[in-house]
Order: sequence, then structure tokens, then C-alpha cells
Amino acid sequence: MEFRTGKLFWGILSLALVVGLGAGWFLAPWLTPQGGLQAVPQATRALEPPSPVTATTSVPSLTFTATLVPVSPTPVPTLTPSPTVSPIATFWPEEQAEVIGVSVEGHPIEVYRFGHGPDQRMIVAGIHGGYENNTVVLARMLIARLRSNPAVVPKDVTLFILPVLNPDGYYDHPGQTYGRANAHGVDLNRNFDALWQPDWRRKDCWNALPISAGAQPFSEPETQALRDFIMRPEIHLAALVSYHSAAHMIFAGGQPPDPRSVSLAEALAAASGYKFPPENYDCELTGQLVDWAVAQGIAAVDVELTNHRDPDLEINWRLLQAFLAWQPGE
Ligand SMILES: [Zn+2]
Repeated sequence: MEFRTGKLFWGILSLALVVGLGAGWFLAPWLTPQGGLQAVPQATRALEPPSPVTATTSVPSLTFTATLVPVSPTPVPTLTPSPTVSPIATFWPEEQAEVIGVSVEGHPIEVYRFGHGPDQRMIVAGIHGGYENNTVVLARMLIARLRSNPAVVPKDVTLFILPVLNPDGYYDHPGQTYGRANAHGVDLNRNFDALWQPDWRRKDCWNALPISAGAQPFSEPETQALRDFIMRPEIHLAALVSYHSAAHMIFAGGQPPDPRSVSLAEALAAASGYKFPPENYDCELTGQLVDWAVAQGIAAVDVELTNHRDPDLEINWRLLQAFLAWQPGE
């Protein structure tokens, strides 16, 4: 019995050991280091997605929206314009052209802008197209030089440059008499609504071609484009130069001459050496840009280059600085 009892004892002990080890192995994943059972495995299993499709479609989209909303208000205030910037800065990028209209043949009429001060001034070249094409060459040279020397334009000034008001005459008949008029045969400098006449005493005027004044004031798309630009609510020009060639003189706008335009002409003559007052000129002047500009309260002058060939760049670089510095009260 001792032996049987002994064998029975060892058998029970072995069975208990096997059962104990088996239970330990079975319970091991649920036992904490402290020996207690934990509830976490059940919770972790419950958080697992029922299926991968549901998880990727719903959860990420909700998270994406929720994180963007609080971030977006931060950059918005930096995008709004500062109230201290002049409204003129919103017209178009500085030193770039805005197309303000097209010619009879569809050529763009461009205006370049330099500076953004409240004191606005304008240069118009090429009103007589290809016949006076050196004025266009000059205007483009001034634009290029201003891009390299933007500080020449004072902080309180905005300068507009329209390099070619009569592109049809300029491109179709470069350097030729025919290039004076637009594609309708109209002299644009007789088409403005200032002392406009359908005809004029031609004997004492430029009379190489039977060009016209147009059917009525502002009958031409080129003059309409410039008028509409100058009459914009945000445009209030103090002074204007209209370039011609080749009389080597300056003419003040207005008939009789406007005193402020005379003051401007004197300042530009002193800087350039172009003659002012001009020599006797008996031509009957009708529908001129400078006379119309004076009627709008703008000091305006015609500047005539020396000949039909040279752009007179250095002379007109000095003239430009005098134009920008001139004060209407002088
Ligand atoms: Zn001219």
C-alpha cells in the first residue's frame, strides 16, 4: 500500500502539475505583472474596426476636416491689403502694361505705370504714329530706363506712360508720312473734343496728306481709349506730356495758353533746351489732346523732338525728371 499509495501520490502530484502548468499557460496573456487579471484586452479588441472598409472611409475624413478648420483663420489676415497702400496699387502691377483699348486694326493700346503716389502724371507718345515714330522709340527707352531706376519717380507720384497711341500708323507705315493717321485716315490729334472742327484752314498746317478730323469728336477707338482712361474715377492727372516730332519746341495747352501749362512748359524747356515759347505758328489747331486735357483741369504740353530720327534720350531723361518734379503751383 505504501508503494501504491506512493505511486498514487506522485501520480496526483504530476496531474496537478500538468493541470497547473496548463492553466498558467492558458491564463498567461491576461495576467498583469502584479498577478491580477486586467480588462484591457477586452477593450482593445472592442476598438478594432469591424471591417477595414468602414474605418478608412469614415474616420480619416472626419479627422482631416477637424484639423484644417482651426488653422485656416491664421493666414487670412495677411492676405488682405494694408489700408495704408494707395488704391492705385490695385490697378495693375507696377512697371507692367495695362491694355486700355485697341486700335482700328486691333492693336493693343498700352499704358505702363511707375510708382503709386497720389500725384498722377502721364506721358503719351506716338499720337502721330509712324510719321513721328521716334517718339515711340523714346517712350520705350524711358520705360526701360525707369525699370532700372525706379527711384527716379518720387514717392508721392504715379507716372503713366502710353508709348504708342496710334499703333496702326506706327506699325503699318514706320517712318513714313502715311503713318501720321490711324487706319481710318484720321489725325488723332484733331479728334479730341476741344475746339473740334470737321475741317481746318489747311494752308498753314501740315498738309502732306488729305487726312481728316474724324466724323465727330472721339469718333476713333484710340482717342476713346485714352479719354476713357483719363476719365476713370481713380485717375486724376495733374500734368500730361504729348510727344511729337520734329519742331524742337514746346507748346503749352489751351487757346489762349493755359497758365499752369505755360508754367510746365517753361520748366521742361529749362531742363531740355527745347524752345519755349515756340516760334510763330499760324496753323489752326483743332481737336487737340492737350487742349482737351487742359479743359479737364490737367496742365498739358506738346513736346516736339529735334528731328524725325533721333529719340533724344538724354535730353528727355532730364526733361522727365523736371516733369516729375514740377509743382502745379509754380
Ligand atoms: Zn505730331
